[in-house]
Amino acid sequence: MPPASPKSSTKPTGLDCRMAVLGAGVRLTPHRREVFQVLAESTDHPTAYDVFNRVKDRSPNISLATVYNCLEHLTTSGAIKQVHVERSQARYCANLREHVHFHCDSCGKVSDALPTTDFDPAQFWQLPPGARVQNASVAIHGQCPDCAKNHSKSRH
Ligand SMILES: [Zn+2]
Ligand SMILES: [Zn+2]
Repeated sequence: MPPASPKSSTKPTGLDCRMAVLGAGVRLTPHRREVFQVLAESTDHPTAYDVFNRVKDRSPNISLATVYNCLEHLTTSGAIKQVHVERSQARYCANLREHVHFHCDSCGKVSDALPTTDFDPAQFWQLPPGARVQNASVAIHGQCPDCAKNHSKSRH
């Protein structure tokens, strides 16, 4: 029996499933896989620089420019989402489920907010008749639970 290696599992990854949906035309280099994998394991919506720092442990010869290229390719192919943050570096998200982003305006944390029911964005929002949705990016701003707690504490 060949020695079992946890890194070369034949189980399809989230990325493989996503790529199957997106179809051909998406070329996955080992670096793009690593970058996706790092993002998929992060729940804090890292910046390109954060991704670079995390992916370096697995691919020590990867450069920041390569990480930017991988993120760019994965974003345009629809495998990941870019999260726009005002006056700050873009962050990235590999959560493949339909969701929007909640931004805490006090600490800058970005969290995923999944819909409470199954919904189709093309049906949910009153879009111009006949419009076709390619991707949706909705941002909700406020205070995260921690900041909301601290805020009300400091007021009393
Ligand atoms: Zn997200
Ligand atoms: Zn906060």
